[in-house]
Amino acid sequence: MENIKHIFFDLDNTLWDYRKNAKLTLVNLFTEYDIENTYGKIFNEFYEAYYLVNQELWDGYREKTVSKEELHRRRFPETFEKLGIQNFGFSAEMEFRFMNEVADSQHLVEGTEEILEYLKGKYELHILSNGFEEVTHKKINGCIIKDYISTISTSESAGIPKPDPKAFQTAVDKSGAKISESLYVGDDWIADMVGATRFGMKAIFFNPLFENHLWIDEVPVIDKLVELKNYL
Ligand SMILES: [Mg+2]
Repeated sequence: MENIKHIFFDLDNTLWDYRKNAKLTLVNLFTEYDIENTYGKIFNEFYEAYYLVNQELWDGYREKTVSKEELHRRRFPETFEKLGIQNFGFSAEMEFRFMNEVADSQHLVEGTEEILEYLKGKYELHILSNGFEEVTHKKINGCIIKDYISTISTSESAGIPKPDPKAFQTAVDKSGAKISESLYVGDDWIADMVGATRFGMKAIFFNPLFENHLWIDEVPVIDKLVELKNYL
């Protein structure tokens, strides 16, 4: 790709392995709260329920029908409700601990260090995440990503999540980049790819789960981060 000077990365499941880190945190909490013995549910049942509830709430957050507070308040109670467990007393405490502890896990998506090392010096690198401000900084500062990036923008600092153009505008303003010299790399088709291209930014879709979408001709699709080398 020509004339690119700035690359904006999504964070969760693009560079920072949210799926793995969240699952490890949930395993710890599940064990500590002794959910298997108390309620007769195995971890996989719990995780599956959590995954669906969380996904739905994040879809709502992206579509602006669910607020940040609501997402945090509803996530665990609705998970337990889905499992048929009523009046689960320590949902709020579990949410608080999850938010505090998830960023302590530092697993990165395969190829993250290799690709950041390769891009460093050639491009200015940035993060634009739909995550919340405090936890996003904690994730980045807890791992090697901090050594490679110039600016961090979040949906919270922008006041609105991707795919809204204002989220991209906030990141561009913060970095001093020109839209025409910028590229977005992310794993969410709507928030990242539809969002970036509508904003007028070039984009590459990272698709490790081999999703199917109505592809956009100008948007290359890769399933490993190191494949970015073919374009940059
Ligand atoms: Mg993502």
